[in-house]
Amino acid sequence: MFDIVKKLMMARQLSMEEGRLTMLNQNILMMPVAGLVTIQKELEKENRQNLIYLAARKTGAWWGEQMKGTFRTKKEDLVKWGMDVVSLAGYGKPVIINIDKENKRMIINLENSTMAEEYGNVGRCVDHMFRGYAAAISDVYFHDNMDAVEVMCKSKGDKVCQCVVKRRTEFDFSNKLVKEQLQGV
Ligand SMILES: [Zn+2]
Repeated sequence: MFDIVKKLMMARQLSMEEGRLTMLNQNILMMPVAGLVTIQKELEKENRQNLIYLAARKTGAWWGEQMKGTFRTKKEDLVKWGMDVVSLAGYGKPVIINIDKENKRMIINLENSTMAEEYGNVGRCVDHMFRGYAAAISDVYFHDNMDAVEVMCKSKGDKVCQCVVKRRTEFDFSNKLVKEQLQGV
């Protein structure tokens, strides 16, 4: 963890100045997890929570490109770096379970999800921000149109949160979770 902070600071990619916190050339806002949970719960009332996923996927892809450009990060390291940034940002601890280069697929777990902790067990997946970042980093890695679905979530009663990332066309839209999480995005 400290390694990534050191590297970012050395490359002047993490700075804190008067009223401004920037990481990888993007203004950052610190807020309690409860703030994001409040917004997401309001969106859930209108079934619009996938907006959180959409926002994370868009900004995450941009971040990934910045990382690649600034640090000339090798493709292999890019996913690890991306996940370190997610960890640094306080979403939990991502663990890459599998990268299938041939079929352009990834499985990424999220341990200790702070969103799931804040929600508690509500019987549904809640890590829309994280799966957005997982999709984004895969976009940059595979140069393809990737999507992520959280198949296991602590808030759904699972032991760990797990995202399956693959090309949009490869998801089975008759699956309930896929339908729920990729609709309208
Ligand atoms: Zn989760």
